[in-house]
Amino acid sequence: MELPRYHRLRSTFYRLQASRCAACQATYFPPRPYCLHCGSRNLEELRLSGRGRVLSLTRVYQPSRGFSDGVGTLTALIELPEGLRLIAQLTDVEPAEVETGQEVEMVVRRLRTDEEQGLIVYGYKFRPVVGARAAEGANSA
Ligand SMILES: [Zn+2]
Repeated sequence: MELPRYHRLRSTFYRLQASRCAACQATYFPPRPYCLHCGSRNLEELRLSGRGRVLSLTRVYQPSRGFSDGVGTLTALIELPEGLRLIAQLTDVEPAEVETGQEVEMVVRRLRTDEEQGLIVYGYKFRPVVGARAAEGANSA
């Protein structure tokens, strides 16, 4: 993401602010001024819960420019209960500890360093929900 766009969207990411079309219920994150599905401009503000579930996982071996911290990180397709699907990096987890179907939560983390401007860019990542894992451990014991 370009830095000016990142700065415009920063508070949106921190507050997990999305929008939902009042006509067809399509949900957008970041929020949009009009609906891509039905063209309606009647969109309501929606605050995401920050929870989600892992649909699929990919290990990153060739990170994009500026994401050199990203080698060996996990990128996941995550489904949110609000009906959105996001692609995001996973954090605070070892690759062997993640599986599809796992419950995750959104956290704000450093995404990358802008090498030209020396800026650290923050955004959202997901990490496993600690309580969910503890409950699974209790069941298998
Ligand atoms: Zn719509």
